Amino acid sequence: LVIPGGESTTMDKLVRAFGLQAPLRERIAAGMPVYGSCAGMIMLADRIADARPDQQTLGGFDITVRRNAFGRQVDSFEEDLHIRELGGQPVRAVFLRAPWVEEAGDAVHVLARVEHGPAAGRIVAARQGDLLVTSFHPEVTGDHRVHQLFVDIVRQHTATHDQRERS
Ligand code: GLN
Repeated sequence: LVIPGGESTTMDKLVRAFGLQAPLRERIAAGMPVYGSCAGMIMLADRIADARPDQQTLGGFDITVRRNAFGRQVDSFEEDLHIRELGGQPVRAVFLRAPWVEEAGDAVHVLARVEHGPAAGRIVAARQGDLLVTSFHPEVTGDHRVHQLFVDIVRQHTATHDQRERS
């Protein structure tokens, strides 16, 4: 499953209105690979800071995510990030009223942190098992490496799963 950017409060409302919260939580708990970017990252977070009072998430990722952490829409920005898992060239990260990861549990593997400015050091990409999150929007730059990483996670997951079913 890919949960894209958008508006997490609206996603949460619709997920609940269409009765999808419980089945999605079950699938995530059962190990389904999910990639969440921006609002999608908020949907996967176990805890939100600066949530709407009634806002819920699907959860599964042991992180606290701060909504609109970098400021308002006008504070949206771009930065080159060096992500070891994605090879040599830096990734151009586009942040659109983005969240950041404020706290991460022990099972969380940090992939990228902001490198410059007042938010330097904040976690903006992470992996936990077959769950992947980014604060930024890799779909707007034409660089497919983040999506490729998710495809690799899905392939690996499917291969392991199929093998288990055969034996
Ligand atoms: N600010 C949005 C939210 O809280 C996320 C923005 C985005 O996905 N680009 O859900």
